Amino acid sequence: MKEIRVRFAPSPTGALHIGGVRTALYNYLFARQHNGTMILRIEDTDQNRYVPGAEAYIIESLKWAGIGIDEGIGVGGPFAPYRQSERKELYRKYADQLIDSGHAYYAFDTEAELEAMRDRLKKAGVDYQQYNSVTRMTMRNSLTLPASETEKLLQSGVPYVIRLKVPETGEVRLQDLIRGEVVVQMHELDDKVLMKSDGMPTYHLANVVDDYLMRISHVIRGEEWLPSAPLHVLLYKSFGWEADMPQFAHLPLLLKPDGNGKLSKRDADRMGFPIFPLTWTDPGTGEKSVGFREAGYLPEALINFLAFLGWNPGTEQEIFSMKELIKAFSIGRIGKAGARFDIQKATWFNEQYLRSKPESILAAYLADQLVKKGITCSPEKILKIVAVMRERVSFPKDFYEQGQFFFHAPQTFDSTVIAKKWNADTVKFIRVFQESIENIEQFNAETIKTAFEKTAADLGIKTGQLMQVLRVAITGSASGPDLMMTLEIIGRQETLNRLVFALSNFNVNAASS
Ligand code: GLU
Repeated sequence: MKEIRVRFAPSPTGALHIGGVRTALYNYLFARQHNGTMILRIEDTDQNRYVPGAEAYIIESLKWAGIGIDEGIGVGGPFAPYRQSERKELYRKYADQLIDSGHAYYAFDTEAELEAMRDRLKKAGVDYQQYNSVTRMTMRNSLTLPASETEKLLQSGVPYVIRLKVPETGEVRLQDLIRGEVVVQMHELDDKVLMKSDGMPTYHLANVVDDYLMRISHVIRGEEWLPSAPLHVLLYKSFGWEADMPQFAHLPLLLKPDGNGKLSKRDADRMGFPIFPLTWTDPGTGEKSVGFREAGYLPEALINFLAFLGWNPGTEQEIFSMKELIKAFSIGRIGKAGARFDIQKATWFNEQYLRSKPESILAAYLADQLVKKGITCSPEKILKIVAVMRERVSFPKDFYEQGQFFFHAPQTFDSTVIAKKWNADTVKFIRVFQESIENIEQFNAETIKTAFEKTAADLGIKTGQLMQVLRVAITGSASGPDLMMTLEIIGRQETLNRLVFALSNFNVNAASS
């Protein structure tokens, strides 16, 4: 069997979209599963769209996500260079080869002439105003000009492009591993520019030449490239490389969370979730977009989530490590239908991975936050906090954000609960409870619970109604982690202080309610 060689071939035109990370992931899984090679190639032939910093961003994103590169940018390899701008001369040679074999031609048309052609066709009622096998015979190119004239123009240095000469009749067929058979009629294709007037190849030429030279066995890429695939097949044919043509697999689109239409950065911004793996500041506009990493997503959770966007294992299992994905992945189980980008599912994966981390790691997350906030806290207390909070958090930052009451008394209190439940009975209860916790020997969750229950029983008040007010008095909010454990962590003195505060401040509310 042919050696498996796949490539991720992004263009450095800005931050890597999360869909690009999925494409890279699927390539990587496929490569690893077949003991193949994963290549990173940078397609930077469009100099107008080049964005400084984008290449470094792509490399860092893949590294963070755990998508390893075997060959290519940053690693090197037998087919270097892997940056297309550094391979410029080589494409020229292949364009010339197509000209020599009659599969391509020089075109000298100016922008104004092209415009005039499109106008003419529009007026004639032609739907697609393309430079193709029909219109090319009316234009200024090496097919219509005498050879001597073409030679003269080439010598004189006037700008020209090289175009593919699409056959007048026939069809192009390809067998996509996901989409099945794709058939396109020649007359539907246009004579795409292969070399631009600046001497740079277009995406199509460079992409096909490199896939061929780098011995790519499978092209796994986003569905937006499906319309280009027949043209690429035609290029392979024109070069006489059909036997070495890679297999194609076009991945389904990523859809908006509601399933209506393609996911865009605008949707993500509007709904408040990231679309880029890492935080990115657009060098042109200065606009900063928070990345999945900075928003608190763990790379393994994001990978697991992305793996399921278009693929499924065919079983109930949802949690997959990278190793397990490598084993289970198959192109055959990738669907054709667009994959809904459900950010809540991403958060769910994050919670699962976060909860399965050892307490020491979770403690380090919280300790980090505390250092940033200038709060000192004993390691024992940090461990207790993460233990009581772990089932409730979605992101590492939540340990601090949702647990601020562990470090300072709350500033605001749930007024609905106070209005509803702070009455003469609760006040009586809190007074007695204060005394009883002052007197317990060991102040811990268990002894506090006993004191709490005994006090309630002695006063004949139901504990259910007390729990929530006590929680509001201590944490400010109506819900939170285990209350008795919370009191233990906060400590006796601070608990008493907060109860004193509640008694003198909540009373006012109760009187007015
Ligand atoms: N450079 C293209 C991109 O930016 C690569 C498409 C392909 O994989 O062929 O996505």
